[in-house]
Amino acid sequence: MAILITGGAGYIGSHTVVELLNANKEIVVLDNLSNSSKISLERVEKITGKTVTFYEGDILDRTILQKIFSQHNIESVIHFAGLKAVGESVRKPLHYYQNNITGSITLVEEMLKANVNNLVFSSSATVYGDPEIIPITEDCKVGGTTNPYGTSKFMVERILEDTVNAYPQLSVVILRYFNPVGAHKSGLIGEDPNGIPNNLLPYISQVAVGKLPELSIFGNDYNTPDGTGVRDYIHVVDLAIGHLKALEKHQDDRGYHVYNLGTGIGYSVLDMVKAFEKVNNIKVPYKFVERRAGDIATCYSDPQKAFEKLGWKTEHNLEQMMQDTWNWQKNNPNGYQN
Ligand code: NAD
Ligand code: UDP
Repeated sequence: MAILITGGAGYIGSHTVVELLNANKEIVVLDNLSNSSKISLERVEKITGKTVTFYEGDILDRTILQKIFSQHNIESVIHFAGLKAVGESVRKPLHYYQNNITGSITLVEEMLKANVNNLVFSSSATVYGDPEIIPITEDCKVGGTTNPYGTSKFMVERILEDTVNAYPQLSVVILRYFNPVGAHKSGLIGEDPNGIPNNLLPYISQVAVGKLPELSIFGNDYNTPDGTGVRDYIHVVDLAIGHLKALEKHQDDRGYHVYNLGTGIGYSVLDMVKAFEKVNNIKVPYKFVERRAGDIATCYSDPQKAFEKLGWKTEHNLEQMMQDTWNWQKNNPNGYQN
C-alpha cells in the first residue's frame, strides 16, 4: 500500500515525505514543480536512503491522477499541492481558485472513482481570520478570510466536509497549520521561496546571509507586549510528524476531523529577530515600517486536541527552529539552485 503526496516536492511536503519514508511507508509524489524543484526529492532520498516514485504533473489533470491510482495501490492521499502566496492571490484570484479549489475537487473526484478513501488536507490558521479568542481552538468561527488564498482554504474545508457527509466511506483530516519554519537538521532540504520572501523567517535568513539589506518589521503599534505581531511558529519536522499521526489515527476512526497544528506559544517579530541573532550569532538589521494590509495582531493555537486525539505534540523549541533555518540557508544560499 502506498501514500500519494500531492505537492510533495515543496517545503512541507518534502519534510513529510522524509518522515513517512522513515516510518517505512511507500511514497508516490505528484507535483507540477510550479513552486519547487525535483532536487528536493533527490535530497529526500539522500537523507532517508529510500526511493520516492515521482510524477511531474498537475492535480487538475485527471489523466495523470487516473494513471497513478491504477498503477499504484494507493490507500491514502496527503494533499499539499496548492498556491500559497497571499499577495499574488489578491492579484490573481481566478488562478488561485482554479488551482486550489478546482484542483482539490478534481483530486477528490478521482479518489472516489478509484475507491481511495483517506485524505489529509493542508489547511491554515488563516481560515480563522481575525480570531475571536486566543489561543485559537478548532471550534472557533472560521471564514473571515481577507484574501483569495485564505478563502480558497476555507472553501476547500467546506467542500470536503460536505463531501464526507455525502460519501461516508471517505475519511478526511483537515490540518490547520500555524507558521511553519525551520528545516531538516541535515540542512539538505528547506524552504526555497521564489524571489523576495513574503514570510518572516526566510526574510530574516536572507538578510543574515547578505542577500537582502535589512528586515522591514510591519508595524510596532499592535496591541501586543512589544507592539509587533505575534504568531505561533512551528518547526516543519514537528508539522510533518503531525501528518503521520493523523493518517494513522484516522484510518480507523473515520469521518471529518479538524486539528490545529501549532505549539501553543506566541512569539513577536522582535522575539524572532532577537532569537535568530542570539542562536546564530549574526546581526539582523531591521527597521519599523507601516503595518502590512490584512495582518492581524496575534495568532496562536490551542494544540490540545491534536495532543489528546493524535498523541502529537511539538518537540522542537525556538532555538532549534532558528538553528535549522540558518543551517539550511547558509549551506544553500540560493536554495536548490546551487
Ligand atoms: P510549497 O509551495 O513549497 O509546496 C506546494 C507544492 O505544490 C509545490 O511543490 C508546488 O509545485 C505544488 N503545486 C502547486 N500547485 C500544484 C498543482 N496544481 N498540481 C501539482 N502540484 C502543485 O508550499 P508549502 O509551504 O510546502 O505548503 C504546502 C501546503 O500547505 C499548501 O497547500 C499551503 O497552502 C499549505 N500551508 C502552508 C503554510 C506555510 O506557511 N508554508 C501555512 C499553512 C498552510
Ligand atoms: N513580518 C514582518 N516583516 C516581513 C515579514 C513578516 O514584520 O518581512 C511579520 C508579519 O507582519 C507577521 C509576522 O511577521 O506579524 C509573520 O508573518 P508571515 O508572513 O511569516 O506569516 P503570517 O502573516 O501568515 O502569519
